[in-house]
Amino acid sequence: MGIIRVLEQQLANKIAAGEVVERPASVVRELLENSLDAGARNITVDVERAGRKLIRVADDGCGMDEADAAMSVERHATSKITDEADLFRIGTMGFRGEALPSIASVSRLLMRTAPEGAEHGHEFNVVGGEAGEPVPVATVGTTVEVRDLFFNTPARRKFLKRDQTELMHIVETVTKLALSHPGAGFTLTVEGQPTVDLPRARDLHERLVQVYGTEFVEELVGVSRHEGPLKVEGFVSPPSGLRETRTHQLLFINRRPVRDPSVSHAVFSAYDAPKGLHPVFFIFLDIDPEIVDVNVHPAKQEVRFSDKSGLYRFVRRAVGEVVRPLSGGEYLSQEDAAFPAASSAYGSDNASVYAYEHANASPSGTFGVSEALPGSYGEAGGFAGNFRAQLPFVYLGETFIAYPEVKGGKGGLAVLDHHAAHERVLFEQLLDGLRMESKRLLFPRQVQLSKKEHMVVLDNLEMLAEFGLEVEDFGGDSVIVRSLPGPLEEADLRGILSEAVAAILEGDKPGRSIQEAVAARVACHSSVRGATVLGPEEFNALLEQLDRARDPEHCPHGRPTRLRFSFEELRKLFKRS
Ligand code: ADP
Ligand code: MG
Repeated sequence: MGIIRVLEQQLANKIAAGEVVERPASVVRELLENSLDAGARNITVDVERAGRKLIRVADDGCGMDEADAAMSVERHATSKITDEADLFRIGTMGFRGEALPSIASVSRLLMRTAPEGAEHGHEFNVVGGEAGEPVPVATVGTTVEVRDLFFNTPARRKFLKRDQTELMHIVETVTKLALSHPGAGFTLTVEGQPTVDLPRARDLHERLVQVYGTEFVEELVGVSRHEGPLKVEGFVSPPSGLRETRTHQLLFINRRPVRDPSVSHAVFSAYDAPKGLHPVFFIFLDIDPEIVDVNVHPAKQEVRFSDKSGLYRFVRRAVGEVVRPLSGGEYLSQEDAAFPAASSAYGSDNASVYAYEHANASPSGTFGVSEALPGSYGEAGGFAGNFRAQLPFVYLGETFIAYPEVKGGKGGLAVLDHHAAHERVLFEQLLDGLRMESKRLLFPRQVQLSKKEHMVVLDNLEMLAEFGLEVEDFGGDSVIVRSLPGPLEEADLRGILSEAVAAILEGDKPGRSIQEAVAARVACHSSVRGATVLGPEEFNALLEQLDRARDPEHCPHGRPTRLRFSFEELRKLFKRS
């Protein structure tokens, strides 16, 4: 009897904070959302000790008068909705009225604000959930200072990751909101150092360029479609620009960065991409608030739609209509795959011509013929050693190449997965490259990275140098690359760095070092990129390098590099034995 009580205000706030304020970046997100809702044109974020010591967000938005300011830190106090019907037409980032009281309950909060056009404003501390005595100050807009986050919730404090990680989340939060609000200017300083600086931009394209650099954005194609209550704008990879990772896949619904596997899949499905390849996408959906429920996640990172499959088809159509015309046989749809148009997938060379021309090529080897002129197919003396006849081969389409199996002299058929084989060879070369010579670039190249990539790269300069990737900070999220591992292509420095970063972020796993992870990813990326038709010499060189590899039969992901059918097996398959 009498054991049920209504929770004391401050305790209730702390419980709400558990959901809303997970880490310093959550505070940054909530405060930025408030500034954006207040119509700010310029927002400054300052953090110290990755936000543990200080998070300060200052805006030039509409501000608040003394009474509203005091009210704003009360639980369920909001100016954004008044009745239940409003919940179904939310046009602001916030609406729960929970952020400020929650944050105030787990930190020492100071608010300084002045209503638009006022001579002066007020400043007050929030102590124990209560607004303290307001002091008049000269100020514009609103500044919220959050100090000593989680000072009174040691358990939450303990769950925080390294400063570097927390900082990365903060940078990501600022970047995402900046992408969905190109019209506002954002600056972030870390320990007083300017870290993100995004002046007000004209549109999404300009904002993307500010964040990712021209080189990256130029590769993307625009998406834009409007059907009834659904509208989409954005930028996506062309079919030729798919990657091994799912990085840079951002989805916004009514300007909120959200996760939604179904919509993400709709984008992906527009490509008919081979397994394991993913597009980059920045998709901004604008949906009539009546048919999207944003009130399903305390931190507002998920939403719910009334017509999920309609939305799926809409997104797929919108992306498909721009990427399909570009696909030019790059990736064939399932129906076409059985009869690949070799001419479009592999340049104008007809696969059967290859087989015919080279089937009778004279034997040649790389052993014992060093005097022979390059490209000469003369009689090779000394058939000993690891001599290999120049084998005929046929491109079957996709990444498969058939050639006669001669190993052990038994004969048969072998089918090589060109991509997997190349990957295995590159992977080992990269790992060996830890000791190998690297290729010095004649002209060091400047590469623009995203903020997060830049941070990770700077954090791992030494490891990258071990791979022969000599990189230096060049300020403003860009780096200078001075050398790269011998077998890699200079043309794709950004992609290479991006893959290395993704592998580093994934970290090591049991039985696989971080170096191996980096080598595997970079090898995979580079071998896809470099997928061209091999000439006879290149094909034979690849086979030879593969045979020299430590694990020639598997790509770094463990998939087979080739399948072999001995005559015996072929006879069995043809039911001749
Ligand atoms: P919500 O954003 O869900 O309404 P908050 O706790 O984040 O709840 O904020 C409470 C109220 O305080 C807001 O509705 C708004 O009226 C006011 N407010 C908060 N931050 C600002 C700001 N930067 N500028 C102007 N008003 C603000
Ligand atoms: Mg809010």
